[in-house]
Amino acid sequence: MTSVNELLKDLNPAQLQAVQHPPQIPLQILAGPGSGKTKVLTMRIAHLITNCYLPPWSICAVTFTNKAANEMRERLVKLIGKDNTAQIKMGTFHALCAKFLRRYAKYVGIEGNFTVCDADESKKIIAKLLKQYVEFLKENNISLKEGSVLSMISKLKAKGLTADDALKKAAEYNRFTDQERNMRHFAEGTKPDLLEGKLGHVIASIYKEYEKLLRGSNSLDFDDLLLFGVKLFSQQKQASTWCQHVLVDEYQDTNTTQYELMRFIAQTCRCVTIVGDPDQSIYGWRSAEIENLANMKRDFPTTQQIYLEQNYRSTASILAASMAFISQDKNRIQKTLNTSHAKGPTPVLRAFPMEQVEAGFIAAEIKRLVAFSGGMLNWSDFVVLLRFNALSRTIESALQKEGIPNRVLAGHKFFERLEIKDVLAYLQLVDNPAFVPAFTRVVNVPSRSVGEKTVAELLHRAEQLKISPLTVVERIVDGKIPDIKPPVKKKLGHFVGVIRDMRKFANEGMSPSKLIQSFLELINYGEHLRKTQPDYESRWDNVQELINFATEVENGMPSAVEKKMRDAEDAAHEELWGDNLGEWDADQVEDRNPAEGQATGDTPLRLFLQASMLSTDTETPEDEKSKEKVTISTCHAAKGLEWAVVMIPAVVNGVFPSSRAEDVEEELRLLYVACTRAQGLLYLTHTTTRMVSGESMPQSVSQFVAAVRSDSKTRGTLSEELPVLTPQDRATLSKVLNSRPLPDDAEVARRVADYERTGRHPIWGHNAPFRDLSGVRVNGYGVPQRYPGAPVPEQHPRFPGNGR
Ligand code: ATP
Ligand code: MG
Repeated sequence: MTSVNELLKDLNPAQLQAVQHPPQIPLQILAGPGSGKTKVLTMRIAHLITNCYLPPWSICAVTFTNKAANEMRERLVKLIGKDNTAQIKMGTFHALCAKFLRRYAKYVGIEGNFTVCDADESKKIIAKLLKQYVEFLKENNISLKEGSVLSMISKLKAKGLTADDALKKAAEYNRFTDQERNMRHFAEGTKPDLLEGKLGHVIASIYKEYEKLLRGSNSLDFDDLLLFGVKLFSQQKQASTWCQHVLVDEYQDTNTTQYELMRFIAQTCRCVTIVGDPDQSIYGWRSAEIENLANMKRDFPTTQQIYLEQNYRSTASILAASMAFISQDKNRIQKTLNTSHAKGPTPVLRAFPMEQVEAGFIAAEIKRLVAFSGGMLNWSDFVVLLRFNALSRTIESALQKEGIPNRVLAGHKFFERLEIKDVLAYLQLVDNPAFVPAFTRVVNVPSRSVGEKTVAELLHRAEQLKISPLTVVERIVDGKIPDIKPPVKKKLGHFVGVIRDMRKFANEGMSPSKLIQSFLELINYGEHLRKTQPDYESRWDNVQELINFATEVENGMPSAVEKKMRDAEDAAHEELWGDNLGEWDADQVEDRNPAEGQATGDTPLRLFLQASMLSTDTETPEDEKSKEKVTISTCHAAKGLEWAVVMIPAVVNGVFPSSRAEDVEEELRLLYVACTRAQGLLYLTHTTTRMVSGESMPQSVSQFVAAVRSDSKTRGTLSEELPVLTPQDRATLSKVLNSRPLPDDAEVARRVADYERTGRHPIWGHNAPFRDLSGVRVNGYGVPQRYPGAPVPEQHPRFPGNGR
């Protein structure tokens, strides 16, 4: 463990000032990418604990993704030790709310064993509700998909509107005719609200019914986690005494509900530190409000601001190209961002005839760089950043073809796979028998000849009896209530047996990973996959991966020592505040299905399910091996992270900016976020054609790139030439990569010479000649044309549409 104060010496004066800023004065740290905001936030936490003697449990640190929380945790373990770090309340807004709500569910009228409902299940629920409005939609010529209804409901929730609020608002709007409202919008230059008109009423009504169904299933969706969190903190004033300092990373992307949450958590201590960068606000489409910066000043009037102006992440030329992009946003507030790093290779801009060639180039270039960096760059130093997930297929297959190990961050949606959802659904039913989506999902998995009609009948019975459908089935099987028609007692006996066995195992304290294994045996799930899925082998691998994930979660679960510390924390709460929220009265909670034991608190199964559900947002589970792979990620999911080499394909209009984007400026900021992830090398590539719905369509380079190229001041920030990785370049790379050891120059020269002489790749041995479709032969691995001593190639690779 390194002493915190020792490390403070490494900070620059502005960073140090931010870390040591008096805790009781609210602080906004505003700065560009790579200026050490996250580092400062982490150091500030360590400083508050070490030098200001705040108890670790009283610190609430909010990150944007679970991955970011894990990284921050790792850094803090080095600074203040494992025990201290374990006590800090750290995670995304969602994860923190889930944690609080598990313990204090009764104060907001829910049960502690609630299930987190993911977007997929929510969509299914909404699809069913939408059926009631088919006629209405047809009459009014409106096409409405469940996905868009869900995102509208999500928008309402992000603004903090309950279903009743929405209904009220819709009714208010409807006091006026469409024409009256339109005239008013015209006069005031405003846009119609989504709750206006007939459709507004439909949305509000679906919202109301959706909520009812979720509550009936004892479950919360992602937005509910936040809304109920706000409810807990706003109604139970004592709750805010749990925290003595609130810190938020990536503040520019908080929405109204998240801001409210922060405000309520901090209402007693009034000690708040936020870090953010308005230029990196990329979640407006998910209701993020940049106004929250001003709101904080309004609600915490003594707020002070500190600006950081030194970028530590990137070379000067990457910063220059990034600035050339973001400067196109005319409304932005000018900020200074300097770097002491050398210029380094100029970011590359290249054009290709079609996606496959572009992807082939990316794969070949990665190989070349790994080889010619003389071992300085590894697979894990590379990221391919995409505007959409869908673009990953071509890239993935190109990397696979070249034998480059890769992983998709936020792509595969691991937790949305059929086999993973099946297993999780069984576990969800064990934990929360009321969770209807899980019941309907697996009651007939594997097939038990239970059809849709039977399921509908079971749901109907459940509603009549005011019990969960699982309990209905259990009672039928036990002969306590009459069977339905067609009879199910025989068909579902095994199903009930499996659930009961697992329930017993869980109550006896079996770990989630073991529980999954016994489930797989009980149900013979492998056989079911083999019979029903052609690609059952890879699906089976995924199930094994889920077991690995469960083991990881188990390893991270609070140990006995940490539990003791948590008890100490509760005792401290009581002593300090006479806090009645500190003690938990489990008996008072009505348990819907007494068979399944403890309804509150963090059981291992519940912690595992929660970790799985909250991972769906941005992450796939990571193992040690993933650290040795090239990463493929969306630009959104890459926020806050950094890689030595960043490659951004498909920089064309329609993708960047996306043809679906409402806010072009936000697309520009997204490109800026993507570029500023790079430490040493940056590539932007585009194609002159693209397959759109099965047809090859002509493409033009992104307007953002065109603007950089057409301005004489910024044109030079992008170049067509591939980086040579001269000794000087390698020295620059080493510096931005936190002084990574330099390779032996002689060794690199030997590899290069060898390559030239034999035409064989220094590591892979074979040479896969790389041609573009215009017929020009391109040097196999794009071996640089100008590295010292290399023969000048006869023909410089040229591609159509590259603006030369
Ligand atoms: P982003 O806006 O992209 O989230 P950020 O402002 O949070 O960026 P960090 O991720 O904290 O920036 O830091 C970027 C890189 O700079 C990290 O590798 C970090 O270790 C390094 N860094 C930050 N401050 C210093 C410093 N004073 N000395 C050396 N390296 C630093
Ligand atoms: Mg950061």
